[in-house]
Amino acid sequence: MKPSLLDFTQQELLEQIKPAFRVKQIFGWLYHNYADNFDDMKNIPKALKEELGEKYIVNPLKIVRKEESSDGTIKYLFELQDKKTVEAVWLKMKDTLRNDAGEVLQEAKYTICVSTQVGCKVGCSFCLTAKGGFTRDLSAGEIVAQVVNLKRDNEHKHNRKINIVYMGMGEPLDNLDNLAKAIEIFKEDDGLCISGKRQTVSTSGLSNKIDKLGKMDLGVHIAISLHAVDDELRSELIPMNKAHNINSIIEAVKRFPIDTRKRVMFEYLVIKGKNDDLGSAKKLVKLLHGIKAKVNLIYFNPYEGSDYERPSRDDMMAFQEYLVQHGLLCTIRDSKGIDISAACGQLKEKTQNELEETNI
Ligand code: SAH
Ligand code: SF4
Repeated sequence: MKPSLLDFTQQELLEQIKPAFRVKQIFGWLYHNYADNFDDMKNIPKALKEELGEKYIVNPLKIVRKEESSDGTIKYLFELQDKKTVEAVWLKMKDTLRNDAGEVLQEAKYTICVSTQVGCKVGCSFCLTAKGGFTRDLSAGEIVAQVVNLKRDNEHKHNRKINIVYMGMGEPLDNLDNLAKAIEIFKEDDGLCISGKRQTVSTSGLSNKIDKLGKMDLGVHIAISLHAVDDELRSELIPMNKAHNINSIIEAVKRFPIDTRKRVMFEYLVIKGKNDDLGSAKKLVKLLHGIKAKVNLIYFNPYEGSDYERPSRDDMMAFQEYLVQHGLLCTIRDSKGIDISAACGQLKEKTQNELEETNI
């Protein structure tokens, strides 16, 4: 497998490609024009392109499936060079705002949800990605390419703002080196120029790696997939909670450098009859006391063969109300793309099932 040009920071390319102005041009082709191959790079000399083409490829991903939801969410399935597949999601967060004359007052706002691994080692009992086990880490370029491909496919100009959430397939902190490099590449001024503030790393709670990410001082936000308020249930849902228990995560969060105006997000996957009661809400308030936190309640999204059920709307609302009454900021993640296999791993699974059916 050849590395991609998207695997490198501008500094790294400068060490390999001379003269230096060509690097800036190439960066422009990659991140402003979303070049798919070397032929697209019109003002780069043929000899240089041939030389680079021997060592590198441009786009390591191929879109093999796309599902569009009525709410503007688009889910993509990508094929990697070794034919493995990963998902990324294009989420419309705010509609375009127009005046009566139809002129655009504010452009629509989007967030891209990216994957960091093929499969996942953590093995959460509620997660479809976990069912397939772990295959491999994604390279920095394969992470970066998800954003480049989604921006290209949606004709989203390079200078339009976009948020990135590392909430697709895989555990980002289990692939920390490549994750950190992708974050740096996204931040490049001559590239996509996406600041750390616009990037959120979601983790199932590897507390030692939360510390490590904090020390790297990349300016990113973290979101903690908490999902339970006591270690017994959390260990049932997330087996590695035995090694990184709730207390160790809370302590690591307290040490994490965050922008004074910002908050740490705690994700709480609500599962019917498991953690949707007000007793849990009460414990959650206590647990987060003293932390500038924001809670995001997520409806469990069932899939064929899943062991858990979606909570009722009433229980969800009551849970939220309790948290808000006790001073916590709390949102309910509206089930974006509910009609299109929304939760992580579900599009991949669907495609595999269909392939198996057609093979019979
Ligand atoms: N591994 C990281 C990031 C990827 S998982 C983590 O666990 O935080 C991204 C999110 O998808 C997690 O918050 C997880 O709880 C959620 N998720 C996984 N399976 C789900 C399901 N069946 N329904 C709803 N959310 C799910
Ligand atoms: Fe991995 Fe996150 Fe799925 Fe858990 S929820 S198995 S950590 S991807």
